[in-house]
Amino acid sequence: MENNHKKPKPHAIAICYPLQGHVIPFVNLALKLASSGFTITFVNTHSIHHQITKAQSNGDEDDIFAGARKAGLDIRYATVSDGLPLNFDRSLNHDQFMECLLHVFSAHVDELVGNLIQLNPEMNCLVTDTFFVWSSMIAKKYNLVNISFWTEPALVITLYYHMDLLRSHGHFASTDNREDTIDYIPGVRAIERKDLMSYLQATDTSTVVHRIIQKAFEDVKRVDFILCNTVHELESETISALHQKQPTYAIGPIFPAGFTKSLVPTSLWSESECTQWLNTKPRGSVLYVSFGSYAHASKNDIVEIALGLLLSEVSFVWVLRPDIVSSDETDFLPVGFEEKIKISGRGLIVPWCSQIDVISHSAIGGFLTHCGWNSIQESIWCSVPLLCFPLLTDQFTNRKLVVDDWKIGLNLCDQKKSSITKEEVSEKINSLMSGKSSAELRKNIKEVRKKLENALSADGSSQKNFNQFINDVQFLTPKKCGSATSSHALLP
Ligand code: UDP
Repeated sequence: MENNHKKPKPHAIAICYPLQGHVIPFVNLALKLASSGFTITFVNTHSIHHQITKAQSNGDEDDIFAGARKAGLDIRYATVSDGLPLNFDRSLNHDQFMECLLHVFSAHVDELVGNLIQLNPEMNCLVTDTFFVWSSMIAKKYNLVNISFWTEPALVITLYYHMDLLRSHGHFASTDNREDTIDYIPGVRAIERKDLMSYLQATDTSTVVHRIIQKAFEDVKRVDFILCNTVHELESETISALHQKQPTYAIGPIFPAGFTKSLVPTSLWSESECTQWLNTKPRGSVLYVSFGSYAHASKNDIVEIALGLLLSEVSFVWVLRPDIVSSDETDFLPVGFEEKIKISGRGLIVPWCSQIDVISHSAIGGFLTHCGWNSIQESIWCSVPLLCFPLLTDQFTNRKLVVDDWKIGLNLCDQKKSSITKEEVSEKINSLMSGKSSAELRKNIKEVRKKLENALSADGSSQKNFNQFINDVQFLTPKKCGSATSSHALLP
């Protein structure tokens, strides 16, 4: 006999933060939720959507989730304005972009969510990036279960979460400039001020990013669930302390299935092919160099890194975004550098690549990185040790985890110095790629890799946490829907 009381599926609106390092894990989370029975309506800004479709070689696919739907997942796609015209240079005019995300974006989101719910009254969950400042307002207005997705380590969300403590102790936004060890944050045994996120070390705390952080981390205290792209075994005390405040689930690392290119395009720039060049190099001999999608480096540092690479005599693939120094400063390499590496065949410079394809190639033996959290997790997954050159935001805190706590990477330069030299770049590259320190790092990273692998296995911590989260959402959703409108579908 047919059961007329089939369980309705949870339907989440997932609104993605409009930056590359957030789009990638957010898409992977959406795929994971859809694979677990959610219907997802994924929302990108017009600008991100435009960049992704422009970057694809077959740029005619307008719905980036078409491939995922063909594979049987129930993912729909919508776009929303961030408040700025498409051709506005968000990298060059960063603060204006952020002001829009702070003040204008929520009105566009509100309108979109209202329209979506009229068309799909069964929608019952909202999944947003923790950096958004309006999630609880939207969740409350439309009576949605509020799920916050944190794409960085638990240590970083914890420090933001307790900004008030840092302030009252004089370690943040204070004229005291206390430099002693911070040992009073729940779940964080000890951390030095130099290892805080750049925004918490800043002397000017009135910037637009500070205002966003202030608001976002007040807002996160009102969400129903926090999903964290980390692994319990790597940050157990921090996760446990946070969980005591709010339901928090370490479900990382959230990679595309099989650690191969996702069914869904996510790159904002077109990917240059590196595999053929890498195929010509011996195993573990090539250094991969990338500073991610967002941070800028000074021209001087780029020049010293270029000269240091030459001095080191190591082969390398260097992802050099054209705006790495600034959108209006495109001439930053030393004269003759590109010709030299071309003639010697020692280096490949590309504006962007498929990083997971490159880093998982057997020729790669080390990663000179800005310490973005996705890059760190990808590098661990491939057992590639790291040379750390943090530039901004959480990268300083991530460096501490990599170098000081897990001992899977080296510092590129003495942290107290403000600039780097080609000699130390060369020396550090050689220590990373070969010799005793290299062997030690490789041994350690294999152990950390094992923790990630175990966490993702069927009875591993991340998979169990994910299953628990699904159960807990299903428990909460009927209550939310019940008090909204009777036409909302109820979960069991
Ligand atoms: N990435 C890529 N190609 C590149 C450089 C980076 O696909 O040429 C991807 C990388 O695999 C990672 C993301 O972009 O998933 C960058 O995120 P991360 O957190 O490392 O740094 P962010 O860009 O946020 O600073």
